[in-house]
Amino acid sequence: MLKTQIMKMSELKKATYATAFAVGVALVWLYFCIFRVSNATTLVILLSAAILTVFSIISTSKLRYLLLLFLSAALLLFMFIRREGSTLFMLSVVARFAVYGLLIAFFGTLLSQVTQRMYLDMQRVASEREEALSQSRQWLARLNALVRVISAISTKNRLREIFTESLKEARKVFNADSGLIYSVNRETGKLSVVSSFGYRPEILEKMKEKGIGDISSCLACQQMGTVAVDDLATDEKCQNLARVNTGSCICLPITSGDTLWGVLHIRRRYPDAFTPEGIQLAQAMTYQFGLAMQRASLFDQINLLAITDPLTGLYNYRKLGRDLPREFVRSERYQHQFSFIMADIDHFKSFNDTYGHQAGDAVLRGVARAMEKGRREVDRVYRYGGEEFSILLPETDWPEALEVAEKIRKSVESLAVEAEDGEGPLKVSISMGVAAFPGDSGEPEGLIGAADEALYAAKESGRNRTLTYAELVECPRERARPDKPAV
Ligand code: GH3
Ligand code: MG
Ligand code: MG
Repeated sequence: MLKTQIMKMSELKKATYATAFAVGVALVWLYFCIFRVSNATTLVILLSAAILTVFSIISTSKLRYLLLLFLSAALLLFMFIRREGSTLFMLSVVARFAVYGLLIAFFGTLLSQVTQRMYLDMQRVASEREEALSQSRQWLARLNALVRVISAISTKNRLREIFTESLKEARKVFNADSGLIYSVNRETGKLSVVSSFGYRPEILEKMKEKGIGDISSCLACQQMGTVAVDDLATDEKCQNLARVNTGSCICLPITSGDTLWGVLHIRRRYPDAFTPEGIQLAQAMTYQFGLAMQRASLFDQINLLAITDPLTGLYNYRKLGRDLPREFVRSERYQHQFSFIMADIDHFKSFNDTYGHQAGDAVLRGVARAMEKGRREVDRVYRYGGEEFSILLPETDWPEALEVAEKIRKSVESLAVEAEDGEGPLKVSISMGVAAFPGDSGEPEGLIGAADEALYAAKESGRNRTLTYAELVECPRERARPDKPAV
């Protein structure tokens, strides 16, 4: 654009010089026409002719040929007719005046043309500038939107939060009438609505009830690219949109690398509502959504790893350290009871010594599975450490916990573990101690200690059995730990 302007400026300069010259020549000519006619007039005419020729070459006007003709005629008249007062002399004067008039007209036209062109160019440049400015404003608005989206989702670490936040931002940016984010179950390929706006609750309910289908029914998932439908009434569309017949929509897969996390679907009420620039922005946004989702998924994985025991897949001691105080607070507030079980594999050291540590590991995994299977849905099993396990049983007093423990103990007793080297079936048993809040202790450490005491009592009284702290307190003589005072 700058180049165009520079060119226009040089044209303007040219036109100004041309006009100045033309006016100068015209004035000299006028002087000679009116006041005197001498030999110098010939020189003036020649000079004028030369200047005019130069400008005629520069100019594109057809008038230049006519002018040249007149000039030549005037020149001839001067050269051959010297007698003043004769008809031809008078004619030559008339010709000189005519040439003078034409010169003025020619350069006037030239100037007006150039001025007009300049004006039109200026107008064009101004409208180009206006358009460029409005485009810049639009891009700035889009960039702002993108920055807003990034900052809004960058602080979120949970997938669901990111889905919700992403859709909220997409709604604002596109001024959309309705929108959805489907999440993809990566095992089954099923799509499910995780966030939405602009849908009636009963329609959403239906979608949730019937399900959306899987990724094979979604064009954007299949193509792993943006699908834009300019007119939902007439254009080709995927089967999920079969019942939608007004407006336009875009569907964008939310991905990171090759992983498909979900699909962003936005609709507006009128056709052709999404410009190519808008689609580009939506793509940039979904790219950010994908990155945020990948980050959230990694965050979840790290969190899970931090609370999971790698050998058994059970929750670990760290998780117990978080859950137990929480259960205390919760039970205290709602005046509920809860129980805690400590379990320990019997003679596990000698088991390891006999069959090796790999066989020992297989037993640990088998016992963990049996505990997971034997617990109720609300209970949580932890690997406390080594060959010791704990179970947290919310809203459960010790008699009920004893039942659960006994069920688990029996299932461990009937375990037949196959070691990796084919040795087996290997048999183990566990001893368990049960304590309950608030009866046995009012604080976490005390409760663990109480369950531990019951466990040791179970060990001392013969192993492969469950004892409760409550029973120990009631019948202290049954306790078989000589090194500890009776409770
Ligand atoms: P008790 O019946 O009194 O509990 O006897 P015990 O031999 O089980 O008790 P002790 O505490 O002496 O032994 C625990 C053993 O558990 C020692 C250790 O070799 C074994 N152990 C702890 N963690 C692991 C593990 O991750 N894998 C294997 N294979 N063995 C483990
Ligand atoms: Mg032990
Ligand atoms: Mg043991």
